[in-house]
Amino acid sequence: MTQEKSLDADVIVVGSGGAGLAAAIDAMEHGASVLVVEREEEMGGATAISGGGCFIVATPLQAEKGIVDTTEKALEEWLRWGQGSADEEWARFYIEKGCDALFHWMAGLGVDWDALNHHEGNSVPRWHHPQGGGKGLWQALYGASQKLGVARWLTNTAATELTWEGNAISGLRVRRQDTGGDEELRCKTVVMATGGFMSNVEMIRGYRPDLRSLKLMAGSHVGATGDGHRMVEGAGGTLTHMDHLWMYAYATPDYRDPEEQRGLVVRGLPDYVWVNAQGQRFHNETLSGGASATPAVLAQSPQYCWAVIDDAMRSGADISDPYYRDGAAKHVERIESLFQDSPYIKSADTLQGLAAESGLPPEEFERSVQRYNSYIDEGLETDPEFGRPLTGRKKVQQAPFFALQFFPLSRKSFGGVKTDLRCRVLDQDGQPISGLYAAGELTGMAGGHINGHAGLEGTMLGPSLFSGRVAGAWAANGAGFGEGFSP
Ligand SMILES: Cc1cc2nc3c(=O)[nH]c(=O)nc-3n(C[C@H](O)[C@H](O)[C@H](O)COP(=O)(O)OP(=O)(O)OC[C@H]3O[C@@H](n4cnc5c(N)ncnc54)[C@H](O)[C@@H]3O)c2cc1C
Repeated sequence: MTQEKSLDADVIVVGSGGAGLAAAIDAMEHGASVLVVEREEEMGGATAISGGGCFIVATPLQAEKGIVDTTEKALEEWLRWGQGSADEEWARFYIEKGCDALFHWMAGLGVDWDALNHHEGNSVPRWHHPQGGGKGLWQALYGASQKLGVARWLTNTAATELTWEGNAISGLRVRRQDTGGDEELRCKTVVMATGGFMSNVEMIRGYRPDLRSLKLMAGSHVGATGDGHRMVEGAGGTLTHMDHLWMYAYATPDYRDPEEQRGLVVRGLPDYVWVNAQGQRFHNETLSGGASATPAVLAQSPQYCWAVIDDAMRSGADISDPYYRDGAAKHVERIESLFQDSPYIKSADTLQGLAAESGLPPEEFERSVQRYNSYIDEGLETDPEFGRPLTGRKKVQQAPFFALQFFPLSRKSFGGVKTDLRCRVLDQDGQPISGLYAAGELTGMAGGHINGHAGLEGTMLGPSLFSGRVAGAWAANGAGFGEGFSP
């Protein structure tokens, strides 16, 4: 029997991202004491550097904008987009409860949902943006956790192993990152919320041997290395759908990374034209999301493309990375340096010159760009080659011209630790492991594979926060506090 007096907290939460803090808040609201362990010096994980967008259905913001949405319609689109491998039970749970358990709950913590965006695969806009993006959202969670009184914040401290007493989890071992010292922490229940593994390219290749020859860039938070996956698997938990990952095609290598493994997602260039190594267009560039653009780039040989812009378009460039952003604001001079110094971004005064710089066949490349320009000159509504809508699009015409080399980038883990609807970690026989809960991207956002093969956007952060709440409430219940999750 665990001796209560020797406990460090009733519930230990591993990971200080959105899932971890949502779990901490719900556990504390049910009366449990909570300790949070975070490997990095800075808290927040992918959540704090994210765009902050959450897929939520039938909300007051949608209603305000005259958008009619229903959970049935959203679920149907979610499951279709997931190509048969989404977890229907979890998707339904999330979609049905999201408005109360996320929209209103976060608003109660001070979040102002200030915009609604439309993303590929959705019949109506569902991507709700919080003021301040992911950072603003995380700060609201952190503020609430502090108010409720987290017993200890252990930053710079990596969880390394779960510990047992009899056949129940009794705590974990941690290692201080600065001193290397080990410590054992004891509790009644543990919530694992360590995020995904998209910054561990070797681990990705282990689950996706087909990507071994690809120049795949790592594109999540530095803490997304799969520690939690190894720990939970080591404790007998089941990993599922680990080959499901969400990759973006519009990313260029970070020239500041000596290993050139990290990638930078480039946004804000809606008029770019993509060509392959043969200098030919190959895709409707408006469909730039993971479901259509990534397979299109992977189908090229070699598997990359060049995004071509002109001088007038350049000022729109926005780099979705903490070094290039401060919350909602861009670091313009750093983006300028990227354009000047990155060997993966070429420039020239003519299209032929740009082709020479980029190693593209000059005639074919110039023909591709001029043909695209001619569609706009002719006033066509749709590009006859790839179906790109042309209304409002601009020609690539003003020197100097730029070509940004894009490689696929791993952003989000769509598979992970298998749990039930109480976020209890399931073993190989489908039985819950006593005392062990998991949430967030570690669990493929929720349950193991809530999205399936593709996500409708906002379907990563939203379910991570939601499953965090569910895990926290049930972990408190497992520790003897409250009735479990009820939004
Ligand atoms: C740049 C970017 C933009 C994104 N934008 C969006 C968006 O707009 N909408 C959307 O739906 N999704 C978005 N996502 C995905 C979404 O942000 C994540 O899926 C979600 O935040 C995951 O939350 P989490 O709490 O599970 O993990 P995280 O927020 O990553 O937190 C996990 C924490 O665990 C810590 N940790 C890891 N290992 C250990 C260990 N051994 N011991 C202790 N701590 C450990 C990590 O350091 C990290 O702080 C984005 C992702 C990125 C990278």
